[in-house]
Amino acid sequence: MPLKTLNIGDRHEGLLRSGHPWIYRNHLPKHNLETACWVRVEAGRLSAIGLYQSIGDVGIRLYDRNQVPDHSWVINRLQTAQDIRKGLGNSTNNAYRILYGESDGFPGIVVDRYDRFAIIKTYVTGVDLLLITLAKALGKTMKLKGVLARAKDGYRVLWGQEPPAEFTVRENGLNFLANIYEGQKTGLYLDQRDNRSIVRAWAAGARVLDVFSYTGGFSVNALEGGALYATIVDRADQALHDAHRNVIANRFKPNQYETVRADAYEYLKALVSQGKTYDLVILDPPSLARRKTQRTKALKSYRRLNRLAFQSVANGGLLATSSCTTQVSPTGFRRVLAEAASSIGATTQIIHETAHPPDHPVPLNFPEARYLKFFLIRVLHK
Ligand code: SAH
Repeated sequence: MPLKTLNIGDRHEGLLRSGHPWIYRNHLPKHNLETACWVRVEAGRLSAIGLYQSIGDVGIRLYDRNQVPDHSWVINRLQTAQDIRKGLGNSTNNAYRILYGESDGFPGIVVDRYDRFAIIKTYVTGVDLLLITLAKALGKTMKLKGVLARAKDGYRVLWGQEPPAEFTVRENGLNFLANIYEGQKTGLYLDQRDNRSIVRAWAAGARVLDVFSYTGGFSVNALEGGALYATIVDRADQALHDAHRNVIANRFKPNQYETVRADAYEYLKALVSQGKTYDLVILDPPSLARRKTQRTKALKSYRRLNRLAFQSVANGGLLATSSCTTQVSPTGFRRVLAEAASSIGATTQIIHETAHPPDHPVPLNFPEARYLKFFLIRVLHK
């Protein structure tokens, strides 16, 4: 069947030239495309091949200038993605992102590796054939045991064995339980790997407060870096249960930590009213906006949370604060942090300002891929 063609108008030629992989729905002319169909998009003198979806802000994701992706296309792009991740996948780090969607030329498809298993997550429909090729190639080239596809409606083993309900992976030489079926994201927050190392490097001798801890990744790293103890706060029982197991699995002592099930806002508020402080406070809330329209509300929550967090840092101590909200830019987040600090009269010094680790690369022409902001800040109370 010949490929359908959609002309989006000369004025969008620049969009195709830029290599940006998305065409928003409101840029599409009237058409009769069916969801999940491949289409040649034309604009001025340029064209590209994309996949149309009937739902969501992005109408067409562009995959290639010339061809509909096939078997060798998948193999070639996967090879490129694997090449830039050569430093990972060893006995120190065996959980990392193999494919980061658009950033690796695989729009709408993310693959994370957890030791001998890979988890594929898709944000598009109509790529089943590509996924089968991808799963087989992943399995064989990385000597995996199994490849699982995780979608809204459940799981499918695409290659090899079914992964166990939970198993241990290594991150920066530490052990962490991965629950790839029930856990958040694909099991763990792999995007904070390098930021956890930063925290480890600055934790010696510190009394640590880890707010929005999930399964304790930051706390375990802080203890490894010589922290005296960690107070681990989350509202999810399961996360705290696994945090406790992660601390013990890395051979720290029961008197080096406590887990607290609480709402982060309430907990911090109570702490501030008691005047209790920590040497190192970690703040890693979930995304606070799903849509652009929620941005202002998200900024307000960040201001409030970080103000409480700054107040919970002892004089001369550190705040490690993150934002994973795509709609909040690095500049926007920095501004909110500055406002929060100045509202309590604190003097600050940014020690580290980072983003994602190298397995979550961001193309210059696709800034949408950048969502994570991380700051390590020294806090001085006058
Ligand atoms: N720092 C973690 C990832 C945090 S993910 C890591 O390095 O792995 C965000 C966490 O915030 C989730 O575990 C979620 O259960 C928790 N959470 C969300 N809203 C919360 C709230 N209001 N109070 C406390 N915890 C909350």
